[in-house]
Amino acid sequence: MKTALYVHVPFCLQRCAYCDFNTYSGLLSLRADYVTVLRQEIRYRAALYPEIAAPTLYFGGGTPSLLLPEEIGAVIGDARQHFRLAADAEITLEANPGTVDGETLRGLYAVGVNRLSLGVQSAHNDELRMLGRIHTWDEAVSAGAAARQAGFDNVSIDLIYGLPGQTLARWKTTLERAVALEPQHLSLYALTLEPETPLAQAVDAGRLPAPDPDLAADMYEHASEVLCRAGYWQYEISNWARGVSASPTAWALPPAGLTEAIGPWVGRHNLVYWRNQPWLGLGAGACSWLGGRRWSNLRHPVAYMQAGQAGHWPETDVEVIASSLERGETLMLGLRLAEGVSDAQFRGRFGVGLAEAYRDTLAQLAAAGLVEWDGVRLRLSARGRLLGNQVFGAFLP
Ligand code: SF4
Repeated sequence: MKTALYVHVPFCLQRCAYCDFNTYSGLLSLRADYVTVLRQEIRYRAALYPEIAAPTLYFGGGTPSLLLPEEIGAVIGDARQHFRLAADAEITLEANPGTVDGETLRGLYAVGVNRLSLGVQSAHNDELRMLGRIHTWDEAVSAGAAARQAGFDNVSIDLIYGLPGQTLARWKTTLERAVALEPQHLSLYALTLEPETPLAQAVDAGRLPAPDPDLAADMYEHASEVLCRAGYWQYEISNWARGVSASPTAWALPPAGLTEAIGPWVGRHNLVYWRNQPWLGLGAGACSWLGGRRWSNLRHPVAYMQAGQAGHWPETDVEVIASSLERGETLMLGLRLAEGVSDAQFRGRFGVGLAEAYRDTLAQLAAAGLVEWDGVRLRLSARGRLLGNQVFGAFLP
């Protein structure tokens, strides 16, 4: 069974001011032992799920670029051996520009990583400082250049917009500079002020201005237009990939209604999530969705390692997903894609067509101009992609 693999690396040199991910500073001394336990988990899960064949492997975090290339290589080797990782698998690694140099990147490429996701975030050093990032813009540029020299032809860049005090002009500069690096892929995220984070506390205390959601929406629309003109297809609400042909509009249906037809640079791993297909998460706090169940591993790396060293792999937050919820989630996730959800595929999976399952909801959303529905395919309208949360909620039971 085709199942994407996710590996979580819960270490960072320093916590960014906005981050609420499952990651920790000050625990890097655990790195080698963590990898040992992770490799034991691979064997354990492979014995439980011998049917898995993995088309993609994604190292996320945290900061996976803090692992040694040989450690990454060992995990890739295990995935090939135990999960039948495909010969042409997309193998992505998230890298913090402040943690990589030419030698590391050559090492990562040599052990099989073929897609690099660089957390650049901003082209302005004062914004990077405000975010608590450990790198400067120049270091991000150097990391991008070193990645090319190391052999990476598939580089993605992450940027954040809607920052406290950020103007449209400064966002435009960030975007222009990022595009000038000629990445194959861009992911743009609106800043979310997560409770308890230092950035949220600074805003709450009045030390930083609150982000303006209307301005953030302008930034998003500007990015959509600029990236379309620069040769990128917006294939998902927050993701753009360089296309083999130009995108006719900023939110166009991909050729033949298929994201992969845009070109080889779409993120194949995340497509699995958006199509609500199975994935297996490995490592501390990693979440899995497989066989109609969702679960998480123990969240803290020390707890995860202690249990693993004792031969236990507890599953927490276990949910058995009812068919009605799976249908709703399939729509909620699928509508994030410009390809939307095809009626034939939905019917093939759930035995019922979209019109039958959601007649009134579809009529209401179409009347509000939030979706396009022609009886064959359902997708967000250009307006709907700005108001996605309103649409997604309508499909959940
Ligand atoms: S580098 Fe990424 S995972 Fe680590 S603290 Fe910063 S945002 Fe969070």
